[in-house]
Amino acid sequence: MTVQTLHKKHRVGVETARRDAAHFIDGNFTRGSTGKSWENRSPIDNSLIGRVPEGGQAEVDAAVQAAHAALEGPWGKMSATERTDLLAAVADEINARFDEFLAAECLDTGKPYGLASHIDIPRGAANFKMFADTVKNVSTETFILDTPDGKSAVNYGLRRPKGVIAVISPWNLPLLLMTWKVGPALACGNTVVVKPSEETPLTATLLGEVMNKVGVPKGVYNVVHGFGPQSAGEFLTQHPLVNGVTFTGETRTGEAIMRQAALGVRQVSFELGGKNPAIVFADCDLDKAIEGTMRSAFANCGQVCLGTERIYVERPIFDAFVARLKAGAESLKPGRPEDAATNLGPLISQEHRSKVLSYYQLALKEGATLITGGGVPEMPQELSQGAWVQPTIWTGLRDDTRTINEEIFGPCCHIRPFDTEDEAVRLANSTPYGLAAAVWTENLSRGHRVAARMDVGICWVNSWFLRDLRTAFGGSKQSGIGREGGLHSLEFYTELSNVCIKL
Ligand code: NAD
Repeated sequence: MTVQTLHKKHRVGVETARRDAAHFIDGNFTRGSTGKSWENRSPIDNSLIGRVPEGGQAEVDAAVQAAHAALEGPWGKMSATERTDLLAAVADEINARFDEFLAAECLDTGKPYGLASHIDIPRGAANFKMFADTVKNVSTETFILDTPDGKSAVNYGLRRPKGVIAVISPWNLPLLLMTWKVGPALACGNTVVVKPSEETPLTATLLGEVMNKVGVPKGVYNVVHGFGPQSAGEFLTQHPLVNGVTFTGETRTGEAIMRQAALGVRQVSFELGGKNPAIVFADCDLDKAIEGTMRSAFANCGQVCLGTERIYVERPIFDAFVARLKAGAESLKPGRPEDAATNLGPLISQEHRSKVLSYYQLALKEGATLITGGGVPEMPQELSQGAWVQPTIWTGLRDDTRTINEEIFGPCCHIRPFDTEDEAVRLANSTPYGLAAAVWTENLSRGHRVAARMDVGICWVNSWFLRDLRTAFGGSKQSGIGREGGLHSLEFYTELSNVCIKL
């Protein structure tokens, strides 16, 4: 299906999604009692989307109490089959309301319909379906023990829900990354309290309507809006009735949440930042490497945790690679999400734009050669207040500069030549992060060899963002703690108990 025809199919414009957000607590939408709220503004043109209530201690407590009570209610008594059937119905209902979710997500983030309709919303639904299927196929170990009195005992493992899970999610793929945690948490029988990013409150709120419609018992899925420190995020992660905290976001935020979750020794699962490398060997299929790197550097305006910000290219093809990526970057079309020609959205906010533009300045100060971009694109008058930046490419930076070592989270990358495989591997592994890498080579032996030396949670060879949801996902070094995905999610979302029966 081409983007043109796809856009014709999704006729609901982002305007239909403009509204105030509400907390969703114990099956009810509420503005809460703090009297505090903030303006949710569109990154496309800085217009007002609606107001979002800021949850305080009382709202967090009500949501956690509801989630705790729901563990003992109809939800806790449901068979795994009934539970997973309900989650499959959640997936179906997201798909039935696909255009509403699409409009809401694109209004909050400014991302193009062409992207969100292929990635964000289908994955939001798939996360429920896939984990519902996964838990149906769980087995645990069994041992027969010979006891000293000549008899025996049977031991078997039992996976029980962990309890109330706090879900703290980011703004870059709001529905996708939130449901990546809510799906397995609920499939395993837990209940959740979600604190979505303050930048993107709409789809988490909309999901509350879906839960009520399909009959998920009240208290199972709760949403409290707010910020991090001294707000709903901190109160939630410190709440004594929360049994585990799953978080996707910046590494520094992860440190703060780890301290908060230390109270009461709650387990954490963290998917954190990255400064991901791509290694492009001279024997690659250059067309494929350029197509993949265009996506990995610039998709979602560079706001993808798995995105590539450092590119190492083998010297014989360095100039050709730089020239072709430059041409690709300059061909990207910023514009309104619904416009079929748009393939570049804005950054999430003015604040994030200031951060990214400060790196654009820093790179030059640190001695970069600007290949393209480096500033703000000219936009039509009605979009001129949006958080737009130009896709940007640099070369010539030293390996120890901040631009090379810090996550920028914008549509920008640095390209550096290398001469040997060892050098490329050393450079790729040289930051404190270890989330993802991409290797481009037509020599499969080399692909295997280099992938095994990458200190990352996921290494793609001749692809990028090709996700099999059954596989382990997470980061090494400062890019995360633990793995989620498929059966790996059960390690966090269940407690494994052993039952020993003397026969
Ligand atoms: P962020 O860390 O600023 O915020 C994420 C969430 O944490 C928000 O909901 C925020 O309100 C909350 N928060 C902030 N401080 C808190 C505190 N003290 N206690 C509780 N909650 C708190 O991240 P972001 O800017 O929303 O997202 C971008 C970051 O996320 C990037 O670093 C990116 O690499 C990372 N990310 C990682 C993955 C992954 O899978 N590894 C995926 C997507 C994004």
